[in-house]
Amino acid sequence: MNKYLLSLLLYSALLYAHAQPTSTTYWQQHVDYKMEIKVDVKTHQFEGSQKLTYTNNSPDTLTKVYYHLYFNAFQPGSMMDVRSLNIEDPDRRVGSRISKLSDSEIGYQHVTSLKQNGNTVSHHTEGTILEVMLNKPILPGQKATFDMEFNGQVPLQVRRTGRDNAEGISYSMSQWYPKMTEYDYLGWHANPYIAREFHGVWGNFDVKITIDPTYTVAGTGYLQNANEIGHGYEKKGSKIKSTDKPLTWHFKAPNVIDFMWAADPDYEHTTAQVPNGPMLHFFYQKNQQTEENWSKLPEKMVQAMQFMSTNFGQYPYDQYSFIQGGDGGMEYPMATLITGNRKFQSLVGVSVHELIHSWFQGVLATNESLFPWMDEGFTSYASSITMQHLFYPKNDKNPHLGSQGSYLLMASSGLEEPLTTHSDHYKTNRAYGVNAYSKGAIFLDQLSYIIGHETFMKGMRRYYNTWKFKHPTSIDFIRIMEKTSGIELDWYLEHFAYTTKQLDYGIKSVIGQGDATFVTLERLGEMIMPIDLYIEYMDGSKEIIYVPLRIMRGFKNVEDTKVERITKESWPWTYPSYTLKIKHPASKIKSLEIDSSLRMADIDRSNNTFRLNEHVQEFKDPTK
Ligand SMILES: [Zn+2]
Repeated sequence: MNKYLLSLLLYSALLYAHAQPTSTTYWQQHVDYKMEIKVDVKTHQFEGSQKLTYTNNSPDTLTKVYYHLYFNAFQPGSMMDVRSLNIEDPDRRVGSRISKLSDSEIGYQHVTSLKQNGNTVSHHTEGTILEVMLNKPILPGQKATFDMEFNGQVPLQVRRTGRDNAEGISYSMSQWYPKMTEYDYLGWHANPYIAREFHGVWGNFDVKITIDPTYTVAGTGYLQNANEIGHGYEKKGSKIKSTDKPLTWHFKAPNVIDFMWAADPDYEHTTAQVPNGPMLHFFYQKNQQTEENWSKLPEKMVQAMQFMSTNFGQYPYDQYSFIQGGDGGMEYPMATLITGNRKFQSLVGVSVHELIHSWFQGVLATNESLFPWMDEGFTSYASSITMQHLFYPKNDKNPHLGSQGSYLLMASSGLEEPLTTHSDHYKTNRAYGVNAYSKGAIFLDQLSYIIGHETFMKGMRRYYNTWKFKHPTSIDFIRIMEKTSGIELDWYLEHFAYTTKQLDYGIKSVIGQGDATFVTLERLGEMIMPIDLYIEYMDGSKEIIYVPLRIMRGFKNVEDTKVERITKESWPWTYPSYTLKIKHPASKIKSLEIDSSLRMADIDRSNNTFRLNEHVQEFKDPTK
């Protein structure tokens, strides 16, 4: 078989193994929710109704649908409880807490009635999933309506959602409603809720929340009746009628994948307008610790929003809310729940991180369970850049070295699992955490090394503009980067995401021969990478020798126009070493370094640099 045919076959095999729709065959389901909920703040129970219009845009006929009932996870003996009791490094926030919840502290969601197109439909609940056997299949292109009555109890806050969190916020209401599971090119995602990560159907939410009038409500969506409600939402100067009867808050959220809200009687509510951008809302409990930091926060968040919109694509909604609640920081469409009793830099750090999830999750809604590194990792990458911009704008040091350090530590620990691992299925929380946040960030930092930073940033904006309001996958992302750079990148996705191959390049030898110097590079790890070899000469001048990989079928643009770059023959990766010629005598060279930008996650950097005065060898012709 000729070489070309063989590589073509291998390539089609790879495509088949990861078959998924391309942008031309892409489809996604659609939901329109209309919900009303009445909350009893004494019992922490609620009654709700939901009218869901579901549009089947898939090419498949659906005979079942599934809903998430996340609150059922907060019961002793639930899969989430047992998972936490058995994993070797449980999340401190969960630990054995679920196993100890009393009847009044557990969470639950009960579906008391469900109709499909007006007719009662059979359904049953298994843990956190409601399975519905449809009366009539939903054909491709068809709509169905589901009318549901449900009630629930808000669990004592353990993880993300719940009442009375550690900082005394009454209600952190994420995962609070029966939520249609997503159906996509991989079928249904009716995964039991055991720890982390979400996937939702794109759609529109119309939500009415009736609650005691002393509570301020914050969340996803635009408040429709601000001048009736008040609580800091009203137009300046409006007079709000005071009442002791429950208030009904009416929110609408267009084109989002989820709806979160929070409520507390002591929320301080402030706002800040981003010029040519959204209105930012802040909700926190005023105390000695929060007052100063939360009053300084808006200025930084305006800057962060502007920086992100300029560099990663325009934020598409007119509103974003920073809400004290939950148990750390968690992203939701148009809003976040964050703990608020923090030092200033930590408060800014968590706020920036969650805000940036508006790009990498809120708008580019990858399936977080399958690609946690594409929402957490990409967010961490953009957070590091944004934090550097906010606090150290003159610093040009690589801001991702923290992420790189934690990835490298994991790589040498023996605990690493491939990035393709489903986020619920990692052996340890640690491997999940480092992979999702750090290795995901390093995936991008290295990619910027491979294709050049300017091209990379262009690609990030193209990715955003091409895939916003959709569910992009890792292949969709890498294809955008291939199209933007003109470089083949499938090998990179394969090595760094599908395997735990490690990267180690070194300078093996430097041999002077008259007016020239021969440098031999070697690949010691399994992972492959193009090489930027930085040369510093004795007279202080600098040069970059660039060795692309043959498998790239292209090369990056010059990144630093102030330094001359010499592009060499590409490196066929199966060769363990590569010798290049520098047209200067060894005596003129001071030092050599592979990747002085420190973007390569090289597990052994000690062999990346070579100081000539210490190690240079002079070539001796053995024939003489
Ligand atoms: Zn995150």
